[in-house]
Amino acid sequence: MGELSTLFAPQRVAVVGASEEAGTVGHAVTSNLLADFGGETVAVNPNREQVLGLDCHDSVTAVEDVDVAVVAVPAAIAVTVLQECASAGIDNVVVITAGFSESGSEGSAREAELVEIAETHGINLVGPNSLGVLSTGVGMNATFGPRMATPGTISFMSQSGAFITAVLDWAADRDLGFRDIVSLGNKAVLDESNFIKEWGEDPETDVILGYLEDVADGREFVETARDVSRETPIVVVKSGRTEAGASAAASHTGAIAGSDKAYEAGLEQAGVLRVDSVQELFDFASILDGQPLPETDGVAIVTNAGGPGVMTTDAVGDTHLELAEFEADTLDQLAEALPDGANIYNPIDVIGDADTERFAEAIELALADPSVGMVVVLACPTATLSFEDLAAETVRLQRANETPIAASLMGGSDTEAAAGTLREVGIPTYFDPARAVRSLAALSEYATIRTTEVSEPEEFDVEYERARELLTAAADRGRTQLGVESMELLDAYGIPTPAGSVVDSPGDAERVASEIGGEVVMKIVSPDISHKSDIGGVEVGVPQTAVRDTYEDLVVRARNYNPDSSIIGVQIQEMVDLDAGTETIVGVSRDPQFGPLVMFGLGGIFVEVMEDTAFRVAPVSERAAGEMLDEIKSAPLLAGARGREPANRQALVETIGRISQLVVDFPAITELDINPVVAGPDGALAVDLRLTLDRDKL
Ligand code: ADP
Ligand code: MG
Repeated sequence: MGELSTLFAPQRVAVVGASEEAGTVGHAVTSNLLADFGGETVAVNPNREQVLGLDCHDSVTAVEDVDVAVVAVPAAIAVTVLQECASAGIDNVVVITAGFSESGSEGSAREAELVEIAETHGINLVGPNSLGVLSTGVGMNATFGPRMATPGTISFMSQSGAFITAVLDWAADRDLGFRDIVSLGNKAVLDESNFIKEWGEDPETDVILGYLEDVADGREFVETARDVSRETPIVVVKSGRTEAGASAAASHTGAIAGSDKAYEAGLEQAGVLRVDSVQELFDFASILDGQPLPETDGVAIVTNAGGPGVMTTDAVGDTHLELAEFEADTLDQLAEALPDGANIYNPIDVIGDADTERFAEAIELALADPSVGMVVVLACPTATLSFEDLAAETVRLQRANETPIAASLMGGSDTEAAAGTLREVGIPTYFDPARAVRSLAALSEYATIRTTEVSEPEEFDVEYERARELLTAAADRGRTQLGVESMELLDAYGIPTPAGSVVDSPGDAERVASEIGGEVVMKIVSPDISHKSDIGGVEVGVPQTAVRDTYEDLVVRARNYNPDSSIIGVQIQEMVDLDAGTETIVGVSRDPQFGPLVMFGLGGIFVEVMEDTAFRVAPVSERAAGEMLDEIKSAPLLAGARGREPANRQALVETIGRISQLVVDFPAITELDINPVVAGPDGALAVDLRLTLDRDKL
């Protein structure tokens, strides 16, 4: 077990602020511990002789060998108490006391003191502002919630204490058992990553659940969870899904990437199953806990009712699962086993007069078919069918097979005994068959997480120093918004760009254009103009003879748009054949929790209208970059729709990887857009550039 093992398996727990007075936190924690804790509970309160029959100590320093101190004292003295815990050499402290960073600047200052003490003494501090911790392994309920959890194998962390009490209440009559529960509180020291790591190492934890409002350190979370999720499934409800995006962003990427995109990408890269509702959180937990993982994504539905069978089929269509197509042999055997009028194709309809024997035979045949990875047993009450017998048969069949089963018994109290039988072997039952299907889909998703190899990002050979000099030079000139005048940066990181350079006179424009030859592209270059074509600042297909006039026109347009705009000059660029390629965008924004977030999508001037994008937290591995290409809706365009040659995948994947490396190397790049990256059969060319520089981070 990990570093936090004594937090969840203590022998002696001290309640600092233990109280005799009902309704207080100090009273609730003490009596909860006295009710079930297998170890020793110690009361600390200088103002009392005794609490709930325990002799009271003046200070934790007066007690030997305390494994966990639970602090329920007024905020004003919490820091002093923590200092005493440190002096007493206590490793684990749960600060229930509120009135810290959640309540203004004075509280934040107090919290900083807690952190400092905890870090100096290496204390595992939970909270502050926590409901407490609970572990059924030792019967420890060190919370001020109203009830103990039923023992089981789910470990659960929550950023909301109230949510824990609600869940415990709700779980009590649902056979959901818990191993450890922690109320994270303000996460001043220990956060979700610490607990994921701990439970990943705990052999008694089969499923990790989380209710999170934010993630303290996105990078660490992704790395920790990615390792743990290969052994132990992690399911998270992340609240705040609909939070509005960052609207004031200077780049396209910033405008599209709300913080939820970072979570979505981060949780996925971490191998975490994200759910929308509490119901799904526990539906997924139950099935992950109770059922084996599927070997294929084919679902067989066995039912005695046509209508619900269709509903279930629709539900399969809403997931990534598919209806299994039975082999000829299976169909023959089904035809033999079932009466006329039954449907032997998926969904198998054993029809309304089926008895348990017929129903079970169909399930058995479905389980034996190699295309079937999962089975939904879907039953409606009839006079000929006994739910209890069907449950017993299903249990028998499941024991004989390694195929996951979910059941939908569509009835009320009549189904309870059967549901209980099924649950005993971990087969979940639902009234709504769609829930059974979604749970199976989660099981399959987790099977993929387990078997997908973790791919490390590639280290490209780049000219780091040259890039640093370019950025420093721009920052020294006071620039924070860089554009195509900084295309050399891309060159330093090995990202191909069309020939071109920025000039500041019509004469130089002609000279450069003639070096490039043929028709050229001309673009106004100004830190005050972010989307050049919006103001007529891009001319494509300019013949050599028109270069001089076009130069003047572009400058006039920029002045008309904003007389004060500072104009660096005009870029003369080689023409890129857009007909042979697709305009894509590679961009970066920064998320306060997850750090650099790389975006890939359909590019051009309508990116924000289309919003056809995929996100990953950097560093982006080759595999992840490949997934990004496949994830966007326009993926068929890249694969060569309408007789065009397919875009060069490898070139795009490499561009994404190199940009990822650039922004990891330079935290000073706070936002970046390369729009477009023209992706053609021969390669990917970065045609435009825009980035925001934070000089303090250089
Ligand atoms: P902005 O995004 O600031 O308007 P861009 O440099 O991206 O400026 O140019 C706008 C559009 O002009 C591009 O999306 C592309 O369609 C076209 N374009 C830009 N540069 C070239 C080029 N070198 N060859 C062909 N088309 C180009
Ligand atoms: Mg552009």
